[in-house]
Order: sequence, then C-alpha cells, then structure tokens
Amino acid sequence: MPDVSSYAPVLSFEDARHLVQRHATLVQPVGTETVDLLSAFGRVLAEPIIADRDLPPFSRSTRDGYAVRSADMARVPVSLNLIGEIRAGEKAANLPANVAGGQTVSIMTGAPVPEGADAVVMVEYSSANGKRIELSRSAHAGENVVPRGAEARQGSVLVEPGRRLNEAAIGLAASVGKSRVSVYKRPRVAVLSTGDEIVDIESTPASTEIRNSNIYSLAVQIQQAGGDSVRLPIAPDEPKRLRDLIEQGLEADLLLMTGGVSMGRYDLVEQVLSDLKAEFFFTGAQIQPGRPVVFGRNVARAREMRPTYFFGLPGNPVSTMVTFELFGRPMLEALAGMLPRPLMFVQAKLKSETKVKPGLKRFLPAILSGEFENTQVELVQWQGSGDIAAVGRANCYIVIPADRERLAAGEFVPIILRY
Ligand code: AMP
Ligand code: MG
Repeated sequence: MPDVSSYAPVLSFEDARHLVQRHATLVQPVGTETVDLLSAFGRVLAEPIIADRDLPPFSRSTRDGYAVRSADMARVPVSLNLIGEIRAGEKAANLPANVAGGQTVSIMTGAPVPEGADAVVMVEYSSANGKRIELSRSAHAGENVVPRGAEARQGSVLVEPGRRLNEAAIGLAASVGKSRVSVYKRPRVAVLSTGDEIVDIESTPASTEIRNSNIYSLAVQIQQAGGDSVRLPIAPDEPKRLRDLIEQGLEADLLLMTGGVSMGRYDLVEQVLSDLKAEFFFTGAQIQPGRPVVFGRNVARAREMRPTYFFGLPGNPVSTMVTFELFGRPMLEALAGMLPRPLMFVQAKLKSETKVKPGLKRFLPAILSGEFENTQVELVQWQGSGDIAAVGRANCYIVIPADRERLAAGEFVPIILRY
C-alpha cells in the first residue's frame, strides 16, 4: 500500500493554514443571483454598493441650535438677528439665500445648513428674546456640521464585492436605494462521515455504536460559512463503498470527510483517495485537536472539469469542529465569493494558571465569562478531542503556542470566538 504520508507532509499550523489560503485564491465562486435586500443578509456581495449621490447629500446640522457664521463668534456672548427656521427635510426653495454677518437661523438636527453659515451652536447655549438670539458659546468653522460629501462622494464604493452583508452593509445598501442586490450563490459542500461504528441519529445505537453527530455540526459550520451541505450516507470502513461515496462527494464544489484519517488499520480515507489519484497537500498539522487533518484535491478527470478540493477531518467531534474552522472555512469562504481574510486572534485575560504539554499548537475549548473589563477566559475540563459535552459548554477556544508549557493567571492569551 503506497504511504501517502511519505509524500505529503505534516506541517506546522501556520504553514498548513497558509497553504489552504493559497489554494483558496485559485478557486472561483460558483455563480451569482439577485435577491431582495433583506434576503441578502449573511450573503456575499457580488457587485459593489455605490453611493448614488454625495453622503450626506447636503451639509447637515448634527444638533438642534442656531446656524451661525463662525466669524461672528470670536467674542461671546453675542446677540444675533433671527431670520428664519430650517427643519429636517426643509425644501431647498425655502432656505434663506444667505446668512449674513450678524444673522442666525434656528436649525434642527438633520436639517441643511444654509449658505453663509458654517457652524451650529447648540440650543442649550442660547436664549431668545423675540428676534434677538443671545449665544453664550463660541463655535469654530465646521462645528456641528457634516459637509456635503464628507462621508462619501457620489460614485464611490461603499461596500466592495466579496464582503458578507451584515447590518451595516444592508443599511448602506438601503441608504443608496438598492432594494435588490447581486450576491454569490452558495457552494454545495458534500459531507461524508466514515466509520463502522457510526449510525444515523434516527436509529437506536447498539452499545458500541456512535451517532453521527459530525455531519450535523459540520452542516451548521458550512451554513455559517456561506455554503449548503449535501449530506451523504455513512461510509463503512470498507474500501469499495467508501470509494463510491467519495466519488459522489467529489462531484460537489467541496468535499469534507470525517473520520478514517488516523493511523489505524481501518483508516482508509487516504488510501482510497490515493487510489483515485488525488493530490495531497498535507496529511497532518502540528495541532491539537486535529493533528491527522488531510488536505488535497482530486485530479480532474477531464481537462475542462475543475478539481474539487477535499478535507479529511479527524472523526473526534472536537477535532472535526476545530479543523473545519481552521482549514475548511477559508476554502469554503473563497468558493462562496468572499475576499480572503486573516484568522485574527482576540486577546483575553486568563482566569487561572494553565499547564499543557508542549509540542503542538493547541486550540482548546474554553469559557469566556465575566463582564466589561473583568472578562476572563479559562479552559473547560475535558476528556480530550472526543469530548463533545465539553465543547458544548465552551464558547471559545484558547490558542496555546507549541512552545508554551505554563500560562500564568492574569496573562493575556489569544482566543478564537465561536460563531
Ligand atoms: P476516527 O477519526 O475514524 O479514528 O474516529 C475518531 C473518533 O471519532 C472515534 O471515537 C469515532 O467513533 C468518532 N467519530 C468518528 N466519526 C464520527 C461521527 N461522524 N460522529 C461522531 N463521532 C465520530
Ligand atoms: Mg474511524
């Protein structure tokens, strides 16, 4: 039996991640569709959102108060002549042609600042006596005014293609009148669980059987990352049926397999893939959980067919979840049309002293708790990467570099927040 691991390396976490990211730049999104603005929430934008006019479209007062010429405000208190009132939405025709020296206009938040005026004094610093307004606070040019076009110029790009539409992007699209937007189609991701002990969740497992939880946790991670899962039947640890199902899975835009990638006698996934002449980029990463993770692509059968990338994720449930986040997600996001983004760690204060064995970079289930500046993180007690109950209690992962053995209480440590 050819030994795949002899020609595909075990990489450091960083090298493995960068390799996946490099391959992710080679894939194309699977197509576009146009949807209603609210249906576009969470989708990936396939066209730029462009400012259809200057933002703001007029010089806007940010306060209720008095529009003034800042030159009049060098010495306060000052008494000015009230020549009118401007409300938000005031028609352009109703605006005073010019605010001259010694004059002021009562103005509301969101109203256009009239010609001649270049600042607004808050109403709190005013007292009115008929048409005479006394102002007790001075104002510099531009104070409480956002000039026309200061936020964005007409024609400028407000949201780039490749961004996922969150509430801010949806709000921006709405502000430029886009009621329908072009988004990328969701890639289809085949998920294949392997293992003679694995059974569907509808059946009653025998005492030594395990329910197929990975296909469900992966389906959710796929959905979150912008894909749709295609769930294949469970593959036994038997080469022929496994090969059939892997070939089916390779028809999708991406194939994720769980289980069968370790060193056991019945871990057949790599064997079957190498029989299919698949290319392997790595067959392990120096991480825990998830060390046996496999990344490769199939050789296209016809020249015009694009290759399908695949990941062999270790079957332990925590390993499956972690390795999808670290490696599967960037590839899926690229197929979903997303711009590449780095994996960013957030820093959190460690609640109690933590000891680990050095040698592997660790991504350990942890709980972030406390409030405000007292937010702290600590590992959950766990029985290793098969402990799905532990990861259920966790809301993040603490990242521990391979060379660290002891982390002191109060130290800031990198974490990855769960979605
Ligand atoms: P493997 O990676 O095949 O060596 O499996 C490692 C561990 O993960 C074993 O204890 C399996 O029973 C468990 N496991 C494998 N696949 C699944 C799955 N689809 N759902 C839940 N547990 C699994
Ligand atoms: Mg197995």
